[in-house]
Amino acid sequence: MRKRTSFYLEEEMLKNEIDKRDAKRVLIQLPEGLKAEGPRLATIVEKAGALPIISADPCYGACDLATQEAETLRADLLVHFGHTQVTTQPRVPTIYIEAKAVVNVKEAVNKALPHLKDWKSLGLATTVQHIDMLSEAREGLIKAGKSVAIGDTGKLNYAGQVIGCNFSNAKAVAKDVEAFLFIGGGKFHAIGLALATLKPVIVADPYEKRAYAIDDEVQKIIKQRWATIYEAKNAEKFGVLIGLKSGQERFDEALQIKEKLEKKKKGATLFALREITPEALMQFPTVDAFVNTACPRISLDDASKFLKPVLTLEETSVILGEMSWEKLCKEGWFGNET
Ligand code: SF4
Repeated sequence: MRKRTSFYLEEEMLKNEIDKRDAKRVLIQLPEGLKAEGPRLATIVEKAGALPIISADPCYGACDLATQEAETLRADLLVHFGHTQVTTQPRVPTIYIEAKAVVNVKEAVNKALPHLKDWKSLGLATTVQHIDMLSEAREGLIKAGKSVAIGDTGKLNYAGQVIGCNFSNAKAVAKDVEAFLFIGGGKFHAIGLALATLKPVIVADPYEKRAYAIDDEVQKIIKQRWATIYEAKNAEKFGVLIGLKSGQERFDEALQIKEKLEKKKKGATLFALREITPEALMQFPTVDAFVNTACPRISLDDASKFLKPVLTLEETSVILGEMSWEKLCKEGWFGNET
């Protein structure tokens, strides 16, 4: 069984912020992997003189800020753990606590070296949890004779950082490297990195202290995307999905897509929802295909669960004839997502 990893939860900062802001009611939001820390953090908040409330709803990213819930609960401070800030909102005072992992990456990076033997120039990417370890990993790779590029577009908080729908740092160096080394647990970000850059990606997982390639899974997803686009090309009635999570709402894009589909003589209906699930979409059997303007990963990672095609914005450009499939496969996904 995997040993439970601890994270720097910046408890002193939490206490100081409550004190400084004289907060009386604090809503704590944690991603799934950190939810178990909720009761302990609640005790800290209580000792600091505020009433803690833990949001028990799922939280998948910084786009999913519980602003509305904080307003409903009349919280005067929202504390969002595990992600860096991606959107701003003036409604509820909010602090972000990044939750860096207390785990060494050296062993996993060393184990990645045999997988990287065919390439000389590498790109390096990770999530905020391991961002402080990036220089150490880079040094290890340079010692092993590699040249290493770490992208920094300024669109994310840190050089080399990726989030599930923004791989701009990696894309910025993709043309200069033969492959990427991704440092982090799970396959979610690594698959996104491969789809965004279309380069081979090796994962160095510091939690499980192992390294592996993910090309097979990525090729499977790309084939699946082709089949999805092909099916959607024949669709007559489209549903355009508007995400209601604070950082996922793209109403203007949804309206534009609706207009463009209608110009192509397709039916297009707008749907607004917080959670895009197969069950929610099944309620609309007359819709042939959906365009997802919210989290693009729902289309890419959960495709097999949906009964109808659920396209990303870029894939919709293919349907509309604005982009070719070949161009998408050359430039990669996440070109126009934030
Ligand atoms: S939109 Fe999706 S991938 Fe992007 S941060 Fe939110 S949950 Fe993560």
